[in-house]
Amino acid sequence: MKDATKCLHSGYHPKNTEPRVVPIVQSTTYVFDSTDDVAAVFDDPTKALIYSRFANPTVMAVEQKIAELEGGVAAMCTTSGQAANLLAILNICRAGDSFISTTQIYGGTINLFGFTLKKLGIECIFVGEEATDEEIEAAFKPNTKAVFGETIANPALSVFDIERFAKIAHKHGVPLIVDNTFATPILCKPFEFGADIVTHSTSKYMDGHALQIGGVIVDSGKFDWSNGNFPELVEPDESYHGLSYVKEYGKMAYILKARMQLMRDFGCYPAAHSAFLLNLGLETLAVRMKQYCENALTVAKYLEANDKVESVMYPGLENDKCHALAKKYLKGCSGVITFVIKGGKANAVKFMDALSLASNEVHVADIRTCVLHPASETHRQLTDEQLVAAGINSGMVRFSVGLEDVEDILADLDKAFAAID
Ligand SMILES: *Cc1c(COP(=O)(O)O)cnc(C)c1O
Repeated sequence: MKDATKCLHSGYHPKNTEPRVVPIVQSTTYVFDSTDDVAAVFDDPTKALIYSRFANPTVMAVEQKIAELEGGVAAMCTTSGQAANLLAILNICRAGDSFISTTQIYGGTINLFGFTLKKLGIECIFVGEEATDEEIEAAFKPNTKAVFGETIANPALSVFDIERFAKIAHKHGVPLIVDNTFATPILCKPFEFGADIVTHSTSKYMDGHALQIGGVIVDSGKFDWSNGNFPELVEPDESYHGLSYVKEYGKMAYILKARMQLMRDFGCYPAAHSAFLLNLGLETLAVRMKQYCENALTVAKYLEANDKVESVMYPGLENDKCHALAKKYLKGCSGVITFVIKGGKANAVKFMDALSLASNEVHVADIRTCVLHPASETHRQLTDEQLVAAGINSGMVRFSVGLEDVEDILADLDKAFAAID
């Protein structure tokens, strides 16, 4: 099946007289005929469902759909994108380990990796996406367990060279984890370029309607966890009566460990109703992504030609520094554009307050056009010097193009530009 078909049909196949739409199984638990039946599922939790803290039929239908869209063997949903990245790392790193991440990642992930994981004894070593192979290799230590990057970075909008980083990670016997939130599997399938694990914040394009926070981890099933670097996946898990994930579950070792061990213990699993809403978003993902990309390219070209704009970052533009990587990895560059208005913060604020169709909100990838001023909102705690160091110009605007008619979006921009000198 092609992506648009998978969006509608993967994960749920009703049989004779069953409901057309995936049912909301709003139940914390499941009934068994006998104690022996329950015991059998405790021995092998893949046999049936026990408890909705780590498995539920509505959520699992969505997991299967996302796994098929990414071309992976299985997936596990989480209550947020933050939880997805947290569990993706904790599944293979413990206190005393390190991992490598590019610096061009979401601000929330920088906090998680650089501060909170550090308190748990896990070190994140940051390298720039532009680092040479030698510089990246130099960041590896004997305790390094993974490499991490974002397909299209939020908010830098740089494009991650997945193949290059995957090669280096594999040379050191560790997996490449890719946060594919902005691209979605419609614009990029990181597994095709060597990534081993994919994560998403489903709160963005996958949900698409700004309805609910969520995340997902997808396993390619391709990484060899028995290469000596990951004893926790090979040796008996004493918290699971001595089970070896690799021996018992082969290709699904990583994702089943994440579910049976981490999700069991942390319990950040979405409710059935949330998964039902996420599924509605996923059903139209392929058609929506096409339209976001088309609208955003039109808006990016308009901004590039506007003399009140100093610079535009959108990998779909021919003279963008990531255009060559975008051509290699992406079928489109999503709806998010970053641009810098001449005249700094004063003009950026005037411009934003003069918009009426585009709403001022702390979100991106909504179905409606929305806009954010990093210097006075998400990055407001930083001093002017820190803003420069973080690559945030005070005239910078992050514009998330929605699915309105692009003529109306351009008219709104015209009006807002007219409000500044
Ligand atoms: C938003 C976002 C996250 C965090 O996801 P939440 O669902 O808000 O927890 C992680 N990575 C990227 C790239 C994001 O854009």
